[in-house]
Amino acid sequence: MTALFRPAQAYFEPAALDYPLGRELYARLMREGIPLRFTSSHNRVTGLPGETPREAFRAAKRTLVVGIKRDLDFEPCRPSADFSLVLATGCPAACEYCYLQTTLGRKPYVRVYVNVEEILAAAGRVIAGRRPEITVFEAASTADPLALEHLTGSLRRAVEWFGREECGRLRLVTKFAAVEPLLDADHRRHTRVRFTLNAEPVRRLFEHRTAPQPDRLAAAVRLRDAGYPIGFVLAPLMLFRGWRESYSALLDEVAAALGSPAGEDLTFELIQYRFTPASKRIIQERFPATQLDLREEGRHYKRGKYGRGKWVYAPAQAEALRGFLVEAIAGRFPAARVEYFT
Ligand code: SF4
Repeated sequence: MTALFRPAQAYFEPAALDYPLGRELYARLMREGIPLRFTSSHNRVTGLPGETPREAFRAAKRTLVVGIKRDLDFEPCRPSADFSLVLATGCPAACEYCYLQTTLGRKPYVRVYVNVEEILAAAGRVIAGRRPEITVFEAASTADPLALEHLTGSLRRAVEWFGREECGRLRLVTKFAAVEPLLDADHRRHTRVRFTLNAEPVRRLFEHRTAPQPDRLAAAVRLRDAGYPIGFVLAPLMLFRGWRESYSALLDEVAAALGSPAGEDLTFELIQYRFTPASKRIIQERFPATQLDLREEGRHYKRGKYGRGKWVYAPAQAEALRGFLVEAIAGRFPAARVEYFT
C-alpha cells in the first residue's frame, strides 16, 4: 500500500487563510511539524532546493502549495469531458511519461485550491447555461486529485455537489487507491471514477510513487460496490516486445478482480503513448537515464491546436494497438464501452 502524500514543506498564499480549508490545512501541517512559508502567489513559488533539474523536480514533488483559484473559467477537456474542473494542480507521483511534465513545465509542485465552493458555484453557472444538456467535468486534467484527498476532502465535496446537480456529471481518473473518503459519499451515480492501468513492463520502468496496480483494482471494486460507475484508462499504451501478451495479462487481471458480472456501465479509454518536443526536453533533464522511447523516427506528428503537436505511433501501429485492445476488451467485458482511442 502506498503511503499517503506527506509534504516536506508547504507554502501558503496569505489569503488562503480566509477560507476554512486553508486554516484547517495550516493548523494541521503546523501540528505535523512541516515547515510552512508564505508566498504571494501559487504561481510564483521560488527558492525550492535542488542543484540539478532532477533534484529540483524531486523537491517540487514534495512541496505543497495552498492557494486560491482565481481564474474561474473552465477549459474544454476533450475527449474525456466537456470541461476541466481544477481543484488541484500537480501530483506527488513521478511517472516519467506524465503529461504534466509539459503542462506544468517549471512548476511541478503540488497545488491545492481552498475556494472549492467558489469553483463549484462557477461550475453550477456553466451547467445552468447549458441545461437541459448534461455537462461533464473532468477533475483530473491537471492533477491526480485522489492523491490529495486525505489532505483536502475537496473531491468528496465535489462528488456530493455533483450528486445534487441534475444536469452535471463529474469524472476523475487516478493512479492512487485511497478511496475510503468517497465510499459513503452521496454520489447518486453522477461521478465516474476511472483508474489508470498499464502492462507490467511499463509500470515497472516508468511509474514511480503511484499505488501498486492490485491496490488500484481493489479500490475500483470497492467503488463499484459502493454504486459508483467505474472505468479504466489504459495509458500510455506502448509497443514493446511481447506487448500483446502483456496487455492480455493486464485485462485478465482486471477481469479476475472485477469477477462476474464485471459491473454495470463499465468503460475503457485507450490512450497511446505520445510525447511532444517540449516534454522530451524536460523528461531527458529530469530522468537522464530514462528508457522511454523518445525517438521521432518512424512516428507520426499529430498537429493540435495553434500548430503545436505531439509524436504518436505511425497510423498502422496505432491501429494495431487499437484493434487488438478493442477486441481483447470485448472478449472479456462484452457489456463494456470503449469510449475512445487517441
Ligand atoms: S500519477 Fe498521473 S498525474 Fe501523477 S505523475 Fe503519474 S501520470 Fe502524472
